[in-house]
Formats: sequence, structure tokens, C-alpha cells
Amino acid sequence: MAVDRFGRNINYLRISLTDKCNLRCVYCMPEDMAFQPNSDLLQDEELLTLFDLFVELGFRKFRLTGGEPTIRKNVVDLVGGMSRRAPDSEISMTTNGILLDRLAQPLREAGLARCNISVDTLVPERYEKITRWGSVDQLMAGIHATEAAGLLPIKLNSVVVRGFNDTDDAISLAALSLENEWHIRFIEMMPFGEVAGFQQAGVVPEEELRATIESELGPMDILNGGRLVGEARVYQLRQAKGTVGFISSVTAPFCAACTRARLTADGKLRLCLLQEAEVDLLTPLRAGATQTEMIELIRESIWGKPWGHGLAQNVIPLNRVMSQIGG
Ligand code: SAM
Ligand code: SF4
Repeated sequence: MAVDRFGRNINYLRISLTDKCNLRCVYCMPEDMAFQPNSDLLQDEELLTLFDLFVELGFRKFRLTGGEPTIRKNVVDLVGGMSRRAPDSEISMTTNGILLDRLAQPLREAGLARCNISVDTLVPERYEKITRWGSVDQLMAGIHATEAAGLLPIKLNSVVVRGFNDTDDAISLAALSLENEWHIRFIEMMPFGEVAGFQQAGVVPEEELRATIESELGPMDILNGGRLVGEARVYQLRQAKGTVGFISSVTAPFCAACTRARLTADGKLRLCLLQEAEVDLLTPLRAGATQTEMIELIRESIWGKPWGHGLAQNVIPLNRVMSQIGG
């Protein structure tokens, strides 16, 4: 078991499979984003070696992310390798969904449990504007393939950006929960690196968004007694098959209940998404550190996990953007 100095049991690892992406979402990375050379990134064997160490330390929830995890070569084999090594762990993925029409079934067969798919709008021109390069048809084909493959429940993540998708798009996305057993989750935009100014200006607080949705689709009932489900506060429209959730890391931080760590594609352990501190795992691994030494390094790093983010004090991480950390 790995605990931090505040007594939190850290057992959920988000693993970034790559810093690269087949889209360029405006809130995530600039269009001319520079990527790291592959030799600086964790190779398959290195990734699986580190995975084993986290399992040894009691981690049982793993989420593959990026960049875009589905563009990693061998992604299906990697999922297979992880699920064979940790059959009692849950391995899930956060993806833009563009490649799921052909990958959902093989990923399911390899042992993936479920997918969170990012969908910021259903209007083709706006989707192209937000993602710069994406196609809604491809995305929808991916969502349906994911459902058909049984990667359930389907969670659809929408980052809300004021002026882009905070009104009719949010309403159309919430309305998807009426007919589908899909769980739509609206995520407050978080500030990173050079694009922090744009991101801070574009945050739409949960309350405002909820009011917008309810004004069009009617009242939503709060579920789970208002307690968070994972990181989301979850509501349901009357007669809906799915739910509508709000992940409000900026206006209502959930740091006290955080059980996460992140492994970046270049092998750094990051204990808080919104704090710059990282511990390099790749260099000692390549230098031949023993399993015991690596486990001790990870255990100590987890002990030092920051309490939480400092957005309220205007502490903004500048060393990386979201795609380089693993959202
Ligand atoms: N490419 C995959 C995807 O888009 O789902 C996985 C990586 S992406 C960085 C993970 C999640 O982070 C996505 O849901 C994305 O919308 C979200 N995200 C990206 N930039 C963000 C920001 N500045 N604030 C909040 N969420 C952000
Ligand atoms: Fe790519 Fe995901 Fe970032 Fe969009 S949010 S640019 S899909 S990594």
C-alpha cells in the first residue's frame, strides 16, 4: 500500500502512453505543438516494468491516457500485457474516440474495462473548430463501436469553454443522456502553461452550466446524496437513461479525496496534475536501479504528494500542458 503524509491511500495511476495526438484541441495544445522524440519516452518493456511496481505497491486502478492513447503503437498489446499482469485491476482509457471504431473491440478483448470519450460538441463545424482537425462522424462511430464492444458504462467528457460550447452544445450533450445510457460529464477548464490565460478566461462554473441545461431540459435530480461519484457531482434529468455530471476541479476542488498519481509518457511521476513537481523514474530505471530501489523511490515520492492545487492562490503549472501530463 502507498500512502501520502496526509493519510491518503494512493492507488489510482493515470498512465500517459504518448504525448502525441491526432487532434489539437484549443484548450489543450497549440496547433504547432512540439513533441518529444520517441527515445525520450517510456518504451513498452519499461512501461510494463513500472506498471508491475505500481501493482506491487497496491495500485488497482489504471487509466491510460495521453496525448491520445489509441495512437500508441501496440496499444492493444500493452493493454493485454497489463491485464495479464494485474487481472484484479481495472484498466480503463480516456480517449478522443476517433480511432475507437476499429480499436474498441480489440481493446475489449485485450482486457480494457471501459472508456471515457471526449466530446465537446455535436455540431460538425464546431467540433472541427475546437479540435482543429476532428470529425464528428468518426467520433460518433467510435462511441457506438465502444458501446457495441461492451466497454461500459460509456462516459462522455466535455470540457466547457465559454463562448465555444457553453450554451446550446452543453444542452445537446446533456440531452444525449435522455435516450442513451451514457454519462455526460462537464469538466471545468484548467489552466496550464502558455495557454493559461485563455483557459482561465474561459472557465464556466458548474452552477451556471447547470442552470443553462435546466432552463431547456427541465430539472435535474441530484444523485448519491450530493456526494461525489469519483470526481463528479452527478445529476439526472427526469426520465433519463443516463446521467449528467460536473467535474469542478477549479471552483470546487476535491483534493482531500484524491487517490491519484500520474505517470507521464517520458517516465516522470507527477503527484498532482496542477503542481509542477515531478520525480524522474525513467533515468534510474535505465541506469539499472533494482526493483527494491525503484519501489522505495516511488513510495517516498508518493509520501511527498502535495496536499492539493493552488489555483485559488494563482499557482499555475507552467512546465507542461495537459497532453504532456496525461489528463
Ligand atoms: N486525448 C484524450 C482525450 O482527449 O480524451 C486523452 C488525453 S486528454 C489531455 C484528457 C482529458 O483532458 C480530455 O477529456 C480533455 O478534454 C481534457 N482536457 C484537456 N485540456 C484540458 C484543460 N485545460 N482543462 C480541463 N480538461 C482538459
Ligand atoms: Fe488531443 Fe485529447 Fe488534447 Fe484534444 S484533449 S488535443 S484529443 S490530447
